[in-house]
Amino acid sequence: MTTISKTRRLAVMTSGGDAQGMNAAVRSVVRTALARNVQVYAIYEGYQGMVDGGEFIREMNWDSVGGIMHRGGTVIGTARSDDFRTRDGRKKAALNLIQHEIDSLVVIGGDGSLTGANIFRQEWPGLLSDLIADGTITQDVADKHPNLIIAGLVGSIDNDTYGTDMTIGADSALHRITEAVDAITSTAASHQRTFVVKVMGRNCGYLALMGALATGADWVQIPESPPEVENWEVVLAERLIAGRKAGRRDSIVILAEGARDRQGNYIGSSHVAKVLEHALGEEVRITVLGHVQRGGAPSAFDRNLGTLLGSAAVETILDSAPEAEPQLIGMRGNRVNHLPLMECVEKSHEASEAMNAGDYQRALELRGSSFQEAFQTLKTMLRSLPHTPQPDQKRLRLAVMHSGAPAPGMNTAVRAAVRIGLDKGHIMLGIQNGFPGLIAGEVFEMNWMSVNGWAPMGGCELGTNRHIPAGSDFYAIARAIETHKIEGLLIIGGWPAYESAHKLLIERTNFPAFDIPIVLLPATINNNLPGSELSVGADTASNTIVEAVDKIKHSAVALRRCFVVEVMGRTCGYLALMSGLATGAERVYLNEEGVTLRDLQIDLDMLIRGFSSGKRLGLIIRNEHANDVYSTAFMCALFEEEGKELFDVRQSILGHMQQGGNPSPFDRIQATRLATRCIDYLINQAESDSNHCAFIGLQGKEIKFHDLQDFTRMVDLEKQRPRDQWWLSLRAIAKVLAQPGPSEQTAPVG
Ligand code: ATP
Repeated sequence: MTTISKTRRLAVMTSGGDAQGMNAAVRSVVRTALARNVQVYAIYEGYQGMVDGGEFIREMNWDSVGGIMHRGGTVIGTARSDDFRTRDGRKKAALNLIQHEIDSLVVIGGDGSLTGANIFRQEWPGLLSDLIADGTITQDVADKHPNLIIAGLVGSIDNDTYGTDMTIGADSALHRITEAVDAITSTAASHQRTFVVKVMGRNCGYLALMGALATGADWVQIPESPPEVENWEVVLAERLIAGRKAGRRDSIVILAEGARDRQGNYIGSSHVAKVLEHALGEEVRITVLGHVQRGGAPSAFDRNLGTLLGSAAVETILDSAPEAEPQLIGMRGNRVNHLPLMECVEKSHEASEAMNAGDYQRALELRGSSFQEAFQTLKTMLRSLPHTPQPDQKRLRLAVMHSGAPAPGMNTAVRAAVRIGLDKGHIMLGIQNGFPGLIAGEVFEMNWMSVNGWAPMGGCELGTNRHIPAGSDFYAIARAIETHKIEGLLIIGGWPAYESAHKLLIERTNFPAFDIPIVLLPATINNNLPGSELSVGADTASNTIVEAVDKIKHSAVALRRCFVVEVMGRTCGYLALMSGLATGAERVYLNEEGVTLRDLQIDLDMLIRGFSSGKRLGLIIRNEHANDVYSTAFMCALFEEEGKELFDVRQSILGHMQQGGNPSPFDRIQATRLATRCIDYLINQAESDSNHCAFIGLQGKEIKFHDLQDFTRMVDLEKQRPRDQWWLSLRAIAKVLAQPGPSEQTAPVG
């Protein structure tokens, strides 16, 4: 282990309400600091622990934060402290820090905690002067720590903070909400019942809005958009009655806890239930989700978010000038960034202020473009029936199909595409079973209710197939397109979808029928498509892997055992690296890096050293094609043989469970967002006779279309993956955090 620098000491704390993913952030701060030779402490129980000092401020080592990432809440405790709100309390806190020679702080909490940190930093020189005046510390001691350096991470389920697209905990809270609403929906549908589900989020409608979008709810009420009409209760009841008439068996209303009417009065769940009971003439049930949203294991996303932000917080502090303004470390457009902390806190308050002033348009704008776009899409999704087409409108015949392996979220994407297309007055066709289905003429017209209940559904109702057209297929496909008068085609799928569409594009010279707009929506757990940082399905698969590895780890608690877990991804290491980061694996093997005999020797030595010094569990994650000669079975046999009596080795090949399961909230939201844009694209192309072909994807903060002509230029055809793999830049962090301490499983803190 590296020697520890005595020149700078850093402390990490969690404060305010707890949130899933805080532990990953604490672990990352501690280990990044240690890897950078910085002595690091944890302050237990938030600011109260800082005020009380003593056992609440503890030095951390590599193992102190082992085995905590999968745990909900925060293992170092959190609290609300009235003492810290007073200058006297902060003076005590300053003394406790000075006594430990701590002058850098990573604060993980909500806006209150970050505001408190900023006040503390501003007062720091004055507090030290008071301590000198009291004779509590000497001038020499104060001179060694003239400034307090602060980095803030937002740990909050509300996702209400400017400066970060996601706060630590929000994704896990959405998981809890979707799990609960999915469960409620099945019982509600059985009895044809109405449920009012109240979700958290304080003054921010993020959880309610995204929860409604992800679950296919029938109505949502968010603080940023109070009902526009006085008699909103009547309108709501009419909507739900119309939905039932259209064939829905249940009605789910999602109510944000901060939802208000135009006069600013909070809308209570019992009021909504009473109104609906009267109007619908049936029993209406209320479910207040409450603290369950803060609980449970953190999602894969929150573990990785906490990890990346924690690491960046330490680097930011180490790079900061002593008098530097505190920074808020956040994630924007899928990349870590930092902004002045107080600017973020102040801007975060603006949305609430706008709502208090009745300026809801401004409040919506302040939530950002993705929030507004999601709200617009949701308004269409929850209609009981589409708008009727305009009398003079040209109704396009747009078809939707899959190609490639199933990916969770495919159904959600079809649902959004069909409903958006129908609502814009077009005719929507479903093609079953991929290209073989199209060739066989398995094409049918879809209506509004054809996709009812598809938002949360795993699998792929339209059916899919990996077949890539060749030879006589092209003639048959051209015939099918002409027979069904298809004027635009959306293909939701993976590599085979992209390769097939590209072939159709090349064959345009031979088959004029292919001269229609085609758009590709990336849906594969492999996340190996060009122009798209995150394909639909990859988040669900990451969560499936993380949940499975959590269980595998539990199974080995009393043994000295190393697991080699093989995950899918074909020749793309995304799933392996991201799940390795989220589970704290000490080694990840990727096809991108290959595996050599020398690597295996080094890793074997690492395992022997670790198990010899008390380690009980080893975890290695391996991409399925990391190396076809040094297979999972080979690696296990090698380690087992060489580990002799010291440890045993088990292989775990997770297999097709990774393609199954209900889509995660992120995949549902992403599928809906991309499908909406794809249908708009097809309509624009067809109406302007452009007939371009493109693939869509999220890149940074933007959704972009790329010309399908560029497909071959942007990919490694042999490896079937994009040339630009943004996530490989996270490899370095994964390596630092995975340096093995004596035990990943022993000595838990808290
Ligand atoms: P959450 O969003 O979960 O409520 P939060 O960080 O906003 O988290 P708060 O209760 O507002 O939660 O703040 C947590 C603690 O931060 C407070 O108990 C207090 O000790 C400290 N704090 C908050 N605001 C201030 C302030 N203006 N001055 C000093 N300390 C503060």
